[in-house]
Amino acid sequence: MKIAVFDVDDTLIIHGQGSKSYYTPSTNTFLRDLIESKGFDKIYIYTNGTYGHGYSVCKHLNIYDKVSFIYGRDNLSFLYPNHMKPTIESFKYVNDSIKTDSGIINDNPENHQIYFFDDLDVNLKTAKSIGWNTILIKPNGKKENYIDHIFSNIYSALLQLEY
Ligand SMILES: [Mg+2]
Repeated sequence: MKIAVFDVDDTLIIHGQGSKSYYTPSTNTFLRDLIESKGFDKIYIYTNGTYGHGYSVCKHLNIYDKVSFIYGRDNLSFLYPNHMKPTIESFKYVNDSIKTDSGIINDNPENHQIYFFDDLDVNLKTAKSIGWNTILIKPNGKKENYIDHIFSNIYSALLQLEY
């Protein structure tokens, strides 16, 4: 199984000069088409923002119906104070939850690939420690041993990388 996990802020959307345009509905399907073309079996959102923030952005990007679940700081709050990235407790919970939801919790992890897209190095460091494939979304990002790939934006990451 090929599973994609996307951060929201500065990964799926780039924050502009106080713009809230990422909350307004749009008919643009470019990102949706790109994600579809990669043939992921499951897609999840993992944000330190709220569930509602993730929901609104997914609606804006026309990918909400493709997303199996949105993990946010509010619906992970039962893990407080370790509910947010980059804590290992948060990542372990999300990893188990994704694998349960996908029906692969008891499988050999090597038979499945989880691709994690995030703009913060520290988040990728924890993600790598639990066996995820790590993709840094950051202009001029610096390579580290826990980072598998670096792209300046989500579009390049989806276009150029073979999943
Ligand atoms: Mg981010």
